[in-house]
Amino acid sequence: MNNPYDILFETVRIGPVTAPNRFYQVPHCNGFGYRMPQALATMRGIKAEGGWGVVCTEEVEIHHSSDLAPYFEGRLWNDDDIPGLALMADAVHKHGSLAGIELVYNGLDAANIYSRVPSLAPVSMGVIGGSGYDPVQTRRMDKEDIRNLRKWHRDAALRAKRAGFDIVYCYAAHGMTAAIQFILERYNDRTDEYGGSLENRVRLFRELIEDTKDAVGDKCAVAVRFAVDELLGDDGLTHQGQAYDVVAMLAELPDLWDVNISGWSNDSVTSRFGGEGHQEKYISFVKSLTTKPVVGVGRYTSPDSMVSAIKRGVVDMIGAARPSIADPFLPTKIKEGRIDDIRECIGCNICVTGDTRYVPIRCTQNPTMGEEWRRDWHPEIIAPKKSDREVMIIGAGPAGLEAARALGQRGYGVTLLEARKELGGRVLRESALPGLNEWRRVMDWRLTQIKKMKNVAVYPSSPMTAQEILETGAQNIVLATGATYRRDGMGRTLREPIHGFDSQNIFNPDDLMGGESVIGKLGNGNWVIYDDDHYYMGGVLAELLATQGCQVTLITPAPLVSYWSQFTLEQERIQHKLTKLGVRIFARTVLSEIQNDCVRMTDMVSGNETEFPRDGIVLVSDRISNDSMYYELKPALDKGRIHSLRLIGDAEAPNIIAQAVFSGHLAAREFEEEKLEGTPFKVERIM
Ligand code: ADP
Ligand code: SF4
Repeated sequence: MNNPYDILFETVRIGPVTAPNRFYQVPHCNGFGYRMPQALATMRGIKAEGGWGVVCTEEVEIHHSSDLAPYFEGRLWNDDDIPGLALMADAVHKHGSLAGIELVYNGLDAANIYSRVPSLAPVSMGVIGGSGYDPVQTRRMDKEDIRNLRKWHRDAALRAKRAGFDIVYCYAAHGMTAAIQFILERYNDRTDEYGGSLENRVRLFRELIEDTKDAVGDKCAVAVRFAVDELLGDDGLTHQGQAYDVVAMLAELPDLWDVNISGWSNDSVTSRFGGEGHQEKYISFVKSLTTKPVVGVGRYTSPDSMVSAIKRGVVDMIGAARPSIADPFLPTKIKEGRIDDIRECIGCNICVTGDTRYVPIRCTQNPTMGEEWRRDWHPEIIAPKKSDREVMIIGAGPAGLEAARALGQRGYGVTLLEARKELGGRVLRESALPGLNEWRRVMDWRLTQIKKMKNVAVYPSSPMTAQEILETGAQNIVLATGATYRRDGMGRTLREPIHGFDSQNIFNPDDLMGGESVIGKLGNGNWVIYDDDHYYMGGVLAELLATQGCQVTLITPAPLVSYWSQFTLEQERIQHKLTKLGVRIFARTVLSEIQNDCVRMTDMVSGNETEFPRDGIVLVSDRISNDSMYYELKPALDKGRIHSLRLIGDAEAPNIIAQAVFSGHLAAREFEEEKLEGTPFKVERIM
C-alpha cells in the first residue's frame, strides 16, 4: 500500500533548484549565530539528515550597519564571514538537502550598539529592536543610502552563493527589516519615489528581489519572506488589504513565497495562545495569486494536517521551525510510517530563549538540541550499553521518564518506580492548567517509547524509601524525585518567611494542582497570588482562579506579570489576558504580612503599605528539592554497598521542565561512561 503521506515526499522545483521533498525548515534563530559556526553547522546538518528537504539559516546581517548585538545572528558583513556559513551549507548538502540563507538589513530594528554607526531606516525615529527601548534614533536614508543598501544586499547575495547556498532570501517580515519598514505606512512618511503610494513603498523590496535575481539567480533560487498580516487591523498590514496587494504586485517575481504573520510573537505564538495551523486563515490567499511555491508555518506536527494543508491548497511546502527543533527526524519518521515516534513540539518557546537570552538553543522535548556539536549528541542515536548492569529510577516526572527512556534505548535493564498512581510528575499536573494541555506531549512521547521497550519496567503506585531501595538489592540508583513548592513565601525577594505564612487558607501551586478543589472548600472570594517565580506558574494560577469566578489579586516583586515569559514571547499576552479577566495586578510589590482576613503589601519603590482583604492566598516562590533520599543512600555508596547513585532533575536543583528532561538525558548518556575532568563539552574559541 502507498504511504498516505507520499505527497509530502514529492520534489518541488524552486527557480533553478529542486527541493527533494516538501519539508522546509524556515529560518530560525538559535543563539549560535556567527559566534558558534561549528555548533550551528552540526545542528543544521542533523536537520538535513533527518529529512528536511530545505534547511535555512537564521537572519544573516548583510552589513555592519545592521548590527543586532547583543543577539547572536548570522553575519555576512564581508568575505571573512563566508567560511563560517559555508560550513553550514556543506553540512546540509551532505544529506542532499538545499541550504537557504535569510539575508537581512534591519533598519529600525538594529540599534548598532556594537558597530557604533548610525542605524539607517526609511524614517528617523527611536529604534524598536534590541531591548525595545535603546536610546538610539535612526537616520533617515537618502537616495545614496538606498543605493548603498542595494549594493550591500547584492554583495551579500554573491557571498551567499560563494558560501554554497541554494536559496537566497529577501526578507520583509516580522517588522524587523528595512524592506518591510518601507512598506509600512507608520514607518514611511517619505515624499520621494520610495514613499506615498503602495507601489512606491514596495519599490525597495522589489528592487532587492530584482537585484538578487540578477546577481545570483542563475544558480540560486530567490525566496521572499513576507508578513501578510500584523494582526493590528487597520493600523498595520492585513491579508485582505495592503498585504494582499503587495503579493499581487510581486506575484511571479520571486521563486518562492515564504509567508507568515507578524510580529515574531504572533508568528511563533505559544501553544497557550495558538494551535497547529493557526496561520492558515491569513496565508491561504497567497497561492491564488502566484504560480510559485508557497511555504507557510503553523507548528505542524501531524502528518495528516500537513497533507491536508497541501491538498487544500494552503501551501506547497510545510514550513517549520519549532517542529524541526523538537524533532529533527520528523520527515524520516513520516516516511518510515513511524508516526507515534514523532516527538511533537509542545509550543513552549524555550527554544526562543536561546536567542532572547543569548545562549545556545535549548528545547523541552529534544534534549539534544544545541548539544549536537559540543557534546556530540545525536537526536536518534545513543551509545549502546557497556554492561548488563541494571538501573533503578525513582520518580516518573520528566527527568525520570527521559532517563528511563534513554537508558532503555541504550539497552540497559531499567526499573522505573513512581509513588503516584499516574506517571508524568509535574508535567501531568501542570499540563492540566489553563492553556498548557500540549505540554502533556513531554510525558506522552516518553511513555509511548518506553512501552515499546521490553527492557524497561514501570511500576506506578510504588512509593519507595531508601531502606526499601536497598532491600531490593538495586546497585545503580537514579533519584528523580522532583521538588515541592515552599509554603512560607521565601524566594529571591524575601529571605525570611512571610509573617503569618502559617495562618489559615494559605496554599502553594502543588495544592492547586493536587486534584482536590481548593476553591470548592473555600469559596471564590478574594484570592491573592504572590508570584516570586516569574515564569508561567503565577499567571496561569491567576487565570485558573479568575475563570472560576474568584476575585484575584496578583502581587509580584517584578516590574511585569510573569516577567520571564517575555523571553518566550508571551508576557504581553499573559498580562492582556489577566487584565481582561479582571485580575488586579500589583508589580514591584512584595507581600509583607499575612493576617487572618487580610494581607499587607509593600510597594518596593515608594515603600507605601496597603492592606487588602483576603480569603485564600497562593504563594508561588521557591521550591525545595526532594533530595533527602540521596543523603540517606550516600553512605551505602561510600561503603561500596551500591555501585552508583545519581540525583537528577528538580530533585537536584529546581528548574524548568526542559532542564529536567536534559538532566535525565545527561544521566543516561553518562551512565558507565568515564567522567571527564573539567568542562564536559567542547567550547568554540576564536584564536
Ligand atoms: P522532575 O521534574 O525532576 O522530573 P517531578 O516532580 O516532575 O520531577 O517528578 C518527580 C516524581 O517523583 C513525582 O511524580 C513523584 O511522585 C515521584 N516521587 C517522589 N518521591 C518518590 C519516592 N520516594 N518514591 C517513588 N516516587 C517518588
Ligand atoms: Fe517546541 Fe518548546 Fe522545543 Fe521550542 S522548546 S521546539 S516550542 S518543544
